[in-house]
Amino acid sequence: MHVEIITIGNEVLSGRTLDTNFAFLARALEEASVPIGWHSTVGDTAERIADALRRALDRADGVVLTGGLGPTPDDITRKVVATTLGRPLQLDDTVLAGIRERAKRSGRKLPASIEGQALLPRGATVWPNPLGTAPGLLILEDEKPVILLPGVPQEMEALATAFVVPYLRERTGVAVESFTLRTAGVFESQLHERIGNLPQGWPGATLAYLPSYFGVDLRVTATGPDADLVRSVATRAHAELSARVGPVVYAEGGRAIEEVVGEALVAKGWHIATAESCTGGLLARRLTDTPGSSRYFERGFVTYSNASKTQLVGVDAGDLEAHGAVSAPVAEQLARGARARAGVELGVGITGIAGPDGGSEEKPVGTVFIAVSSPRGEAVRRYRFMGTRRTIRERAAQTALDLLRRELAGLPLDAKLEG
Ligand code: AMP
Ligand code: MG
Repeated sequence: MHVEIITIGNEVLSGRTLDTNFAFLARALEEASVPIGWHSTVGDTAERIADALRRALDRADGVVLTGGLGPTPDDITRKVVATTLGRPLQLDDTVLAGIRERAKRSGRKLPASIEGQALLPRGATVWPNPLGTAPGLLILEDEKPVILLPGVPQEMEALATAFVVPYLRERTGVAVESFTLRTAGVFESQLHERIGNLPQGWPGATLAYLPSYFGVDLRVTATGPDADLVRSVATRAHAELSARVGPVVYAEGGRAIEEVVGEALVAKGWHIATAESCTGGLLARRLTDTPGSSRYFERGFVTYSNASKTQLVGVDAGDLEAHGAVSAPVAEQLARGARARAGVELGVGITGIAGPDGGSEEKPVGTVFIAVSSPRGEAVRRYRFMGTRRTIRERAAQTALDLLRRELAGLPLDAKLEG
């Protein structure tokens, strides 16, 4: 079974709107082991939509279309599908009642054209849209599912998660178990070396290395016709993989490292303060991305200039002069100063050269010092991150979070695969 995804809209075809609907669907279906054979994008043109649908029905076992279900004249998907499949539009009373109910609740006068969303190709099954008026639709055309979803990303995602993925997964008839181990501080190649051909011992399972500047995620997906067998392979893979890479795993699933750090702070009853130079507040932002972070985040200093490093957190002017702003002593004093000025248990300091200018032979672009200060003691590390200004800053913030995670867990501060 191979599915084709068709995204519809002039704004998508022109590149003005990023095709996040495709990205979301493709990832969700891949995770559920529903194979995708093709993806096409067409504008809001009747012949193109009809053509794309016919071609998809020729080559694929199922089609998912998104976009063009809205009430405006350029939203023609429903009509084109009805014509192409020879299933005239019919008014669906339940959908119409839902639209009117929604309009009443919103207290706004909605245009009459919105009721056109209750016109459905004959024989369509309705998947109710919890966030909007255009429902998801399922049509079985010669046994092949043709699925229509609205283009508004939140609505599309809600319908895909609630209906499309479970429906298509069921049709593929395979059981799927997957898990993700998130690692930080090591390269893909190091992980690869450590893991070796371990996955060859997992029948029906694959291991994917998913690198980003947050680290490398390791995703294992086990599939097969026998659900019990699939589950036992996944359980064994989890144990074996964890035994190899456990020391660099900071979370499982989709959890972000700032959540892990936040939970550790709450568990210890500690508070944190940051002093950031090259990351300009990025670390503070990451730490406060998590709801409830006011329980542990006390304050953040953005100390970009030398004067601010001295005035705000008490970095010694002589050390700035002698070692430079990007140096181990300055990072240490940023961490210590943030901690002291805020009166908290944990302080972290970051100073570095994000580039593209400002590097030297001794301290090339990407050189970053990160320090932590806590009742356990103080430590500073020097890193060299590669990439653009943006990725250097992202990597620095992520590495600081991993350092904090290690500090809070009482682990060795350096990411090492062995030991
Ligand atoms: P439509 O259903 O075509 O009326 O689209 C409604 C809204 O969703 C518009 O703001 C579109 O820009 C957006 N949209 C439509 N298709 C996509 C897509 N493939 N990816 C992301 N956004 C989209
Ligand atoms: Mg559109």
